[in-house]
Amino acid sequence: MILKHSLACFFLLSGLTLAQHPAPHKKPDRAAPATRPKADPVLAIHQSALIVDTHADTPQRFLDENFDLGSNTPVTEGHIDLDKIKQGNLGAEFFSIWVEPEFKGHYAQRAMELIDSVYQQAARHPDKMTMAFSADDIAHAHDQHKFAALMGIEGGHAIENDMRLLRDFYRVGVRYMTLTWSNTNEWADSSGDIQDPNVKHHNGMTDFGNDVVREMNRLGMIVDISHVSDATYYQALLVSQAPVIASHSSSRELTNQPRNMTDDMLRAMTNNGGVVMVNFYSAFIDENYRKASSDPEKVKQRDAEVEAYKKAHPHPDGSPVTYDETAGIEKRWAAQLPRPPLKSLIDHIDHVAKVAGIDHVGLGSDFDGVTSLPEGIDSVADLPKITQALYQRGYTREQILKILGGNFMRVMREVEATAKRLQAERKESDALSFEDIELMIGNRVSSSQLMVRIRQHGVNFELTPERRTQLKAEKVDESVLDAMVKTKKK
Ligand SMILES: [Zn+2]
Repeated sequence: MILKHSLACFFLLSGLTLAQHPAPHKKPDRAAPATRPKADPVLAIHQSALIVDTHADTPQRFLDENFDLGSNTPVTEGHIDLDKIKQGNLGAEFFSIWVEPEFKGHYAQRAMELIDSVYQQAARHPDKMTMAFSADDIAHAHDQHKFAALMGIEGGHAIENDMRLLRDFYRVGVRYMTLTWSNTNEWADSSGDIQDPNVKHHNGMTDFGNDVVREMNRLGMIVDISHVSDATYYQALLVSQAPVIASHSSSRELTNQPRNMTDDMLRAMTNNGGVVMVNFYSAFIDENYRKASSDPEKVKQRDAEVEAYKKAHPHPDGSPVTYDETAGIEKRWAAQLPRPPLKSLIDHIDHVAKVAGIDHVGLGSDFDGVTSLPEGIDSVADLPKITQALYQRGYTREQILKILGGNFMRVMREVEATAKRLQAERKESDALSFEDIELMIGNRVSSSQLMVRIRQHGVNFELTPERRTQLKAEKVDESVLDAMVKTKKK
């Protein structure tokens, strides 16, 4: 909650609800004493909630447009700013660290710049917002009436196939990672190009991909399966020891988009204990809109216009023209189609709640990353309309609070507890894994210390020629390598 008793906010929101619940016709009585408006029960639910949204692409606006969260944004340009956050009573946002595949060769650098841009915003507005890294941090910010900013990486390619970079991203505050974006990377398949025969696929994830999931569990970074292929999803569920999330995914049963989740996938989420945060994008929540927006002729024309723009506006330093620069073109094309009704979004929330269960559904707006939103949802300020619609469908206060953020908070706490358990187990376990060795090297443990640990615990892996080459490249002493061979345990 941002401002519990903001009068301006109260009247704004009650105006909204009054407009949709017209009061019974009554003659105005000038003589009647002024009375306080009766508290709206729906508004009361919304204002009492700790609301968490798990996906917004605003960091690109911070970085590429020098956008300040304190400025007032026309909804045609952006969905999120601090005033709108207050109006919508958003408690926490996961800002997406989305690295466009065009940044090949510089993925981690681009990610770090986006991460810095989020910290910069928090530094500029310390009275209104704060960085947060845990469920407790979110709750604490909420108690202080401050907006909590968190970060999730969108697209596993950002770690550049390097487990040490994954750990570095955790250290600088990243708390979830979407295993893939729309592009298959070198260790996990994406739903975005799974039909493309020119892309090398892995039938899910490679061994390294499994290790990434395990290391995320150990670190306490939430495994996010939005965007991944179906095979990657099921494999991630098998490997992960902690609940996973879909940070911004909707239902494929209702809207036939390959990156939406089938009912079978939703049911698997129930068993996993995770949560599906429903995406608000028109093309993911409304079948008519999806069909209209994927008209091949129109898509071709739009893409050609985007490409022409990129050619005409190259960056002097050779860096890629970013999504934000061409978003205007995409928005203009999107505006030609009528927006779907709010009902379509509520149908998706309702469907996930029914199939996966009320404990496994939440909100993953995709604000500032999509070109069309359903009617009535122009920005984060309109979140109360979702609460109202759920209430009208018969959802109870307790159920609504779960959807708005309670379910996510539970999952985040479970992920943190799993990490704590795994870290403790690992400390106690006898033999060191190759991962342990890599972790120590990444943490710049000296050769002599490495030797002590290896002699103490032994290792549980075969020192294959590949591993030997890798460790040598990391300047591990020959004597340490010999010790690994000698202390190998069954
Ligand atoms: Zn996305």
